[in-house]
Amino acid sequence: MHAKRIFWKLYPSYLIVTLLSLTAVYVISSTAINRFFEQQIEKNLTEQAWLIKEQVTAPMVTREIETLSRSADTLSANSSARITLIFPDGIVAGDSDKASSEMGNHRDRPEIKDALAGHVGQSLRYSNTLKKNMMYVAVPVWVEGRVIGVVRTSMPMTDMDQLIDSVQHRITFGGLIILFLAAVLSLIVSRRISRPLERIKEGAKRFADGDFSCRLHTIGSTEITSLAETMNQMAEQLEDRLQTVIKEKNQREAVLSSMVEGVLAVDTDGHIISLNKAAARFFQVIQPETAKGRSIEEVFRNVKLQKFIGSVLKGQETLECELTVQHNEIYHLQTRGTNLLGVQGKRIGAVVVFNDVSRLRRLENLRSDFVANVSHELKTPITSIKGFIETLLDGAMNDPVEADRFLKIVAKHADRLNAIIDDLLMLSRLEQGGKEEMEMQQAGLAGLMSSAVEVCAHRAEKKEITIQVECPDNLSANVNPPLIEQALINLIGNAVKYSAEGKTVTVRADREPDGINLSVTDQGYGIASEHLERLFERFYRVDKGRSRQEGGTGLGLAIVKHIAQAHGGTVSVKSTFGKGSTFSVFLPAS
Ligand code: ADP
Repeated sequence: MHAKRIFWKLYPSYLIVTLLSLTAVYVISSTAINRFFEQQIEKNLTEQAWLIKEQVTAPMVTREIETLSRSADTLSANSSARITLIFPDGIVAGDSDKASSEMGNHRDRPEIKDALAGHVGQSLRYSNTLKKNMMYVAVPVWVEGRVIGVVRTSMPMTDMDQLIDSVQHRITFGGLIILFLAAVLSLIVSRRISRPLERIKEGAKRFADGDFSCRLHTIGSTEITSLAETMNQMAEQLEDRLQTVIKEKNQREAVLSSMVEGVLAVDTDGHIISLNKAAARFFQVIQPETAKGRSIEEVFRNVKLQKFIGSVLKGQETLECELTVQHNEIYHLQTRGTNLLGVQGKRIGAVVVFNDVSRLRRLENLRSDFVANVSHELKTPITSIKGFIETLLDGAMNDPVEADRFLKIVAKHADRLNAIIDDLLMLSRLEQGGKEEMEMQQAGLAGLMSSAVEVCAHRAEKKEITIQVECPDNLSANVNPPLIEQALINLIGNAVKYSAEGKTVTVRADREPDGINLSVTDQGYGIASEHLERLFERFYRVDKGRSRQEGGTGLGLAIVKHIAQAHGGTVSVKSTFGKGSTFSVFLPAS
């Protein structure tokens, strides 16, 4: 129901109270005045009647009608009252206003009845004779213990009515003025009471709307002042608490959103209470801001997660599982769900934490792949060595030519084993040591390139391959010289290995705006584009047979990549199948 404003409660009440008071005053005073005048008239009439009685007793005894009629006239002339003299049988002996013969028997008149019974009779009624409201007083005339007649005095009430009317008019006029003044005064008083309350109400509304900048006026009555002061204090405290709550909320959200782990909190009905950025990213939640309040089924289209949360909400203990989510990337999420407890230790939902273990899983896979690859690479030469030694032991040793041939093969496989192990050691050194641990020095690149070419020169000569070096004389870089030389040896070695006889290999160093680019270009067999992406992986070979035949370990390019990374640089390859390839190492300036 719409509550009335306090003004509309006060003002009408004041008006009603004033109106009731005035009406009461009017009614009481009117009645009192009426009664007063009636009493006065009655007293006057009674006194006159007693006086007249003395004078008419004698003619009454003798029933001298004429004398009595005259007496009535003469006595009435000296007074304002009408005088009527009546015998006990009701016959009118004389009347000052009318001829007694014209008047009927008066025995039944109430005042006469009373007088005949020996009392003073009084009556206020309408006179049919005079057509007016009259007050009658009748007194008995006693002679020797007997009522021998009645003297009645009467007076019309007209004068008194007029008097009372005029008094009532004045009271009414005065009352209306008082009513008007009371209305104005009540209006002022009601306003004075309601206005500060209205102001407090407006202030309270602003507080409720979150505007704590305003303060209520502390002027007015004691109650209003203390109410305003209390509300101002309340606003201050509320503002303080609100600020604290907002600060804590922001801190909590900042902590949650900067967490690497995904965090999801749901209530007991499975509606989302909170969801951080990481969790939204793992499950590709498009608008995480609008997720609050929605059900998990609606936001997370992952049945396994929905079931997991269901089990957490049903049970008491912490649950764990691993979820795999696939969209742009594959996420392996180690998931822990536990009950969310409220202030009184009552369960209010569940909180789920997602730990991204994808990298760990990838590394585990890489490690197991690597172990398998290494074992495989080592197994081939070892099997060969074992086979040839067994053949030698079985008698081939006795044939010097065969023995020589077999031992050379064994030596070749041993070299291969050695090369693989050297490369593996090199890789592991590169993986363990970062840029900080390397000895860096300013070295001229032309010198490094010539040394590398020299190492490969023998092989190149065998295949009649020309190696060209193009490098500005003064070009130098802050590098680890042996490692850069090793990278160049690997690249030039590959260019020679995978080129046909008589081709040319070009080794270049170019200054670029943000660093130096080393490149080795050959006119060799080239590499089909589908292999390019994986070329720098350990043990990845395009043509396994040719690589083994050429004494390759499958680790050369992986080593080049690690050397480049150790210098903060990158490697890249461009190749056209059947035409040749260019391998580049980019070394950034800093
Ligand atoms: P490998 O010891 O087998 O040469 P690398 O890691 O050096 O191992 O090279 C990986 C693979 O890349 C090689 O097996 C070869 O198939 C291919 N490759 C490397 N360099 C070249 C090149 N210049 N031309 C064509 N193929 C190349």
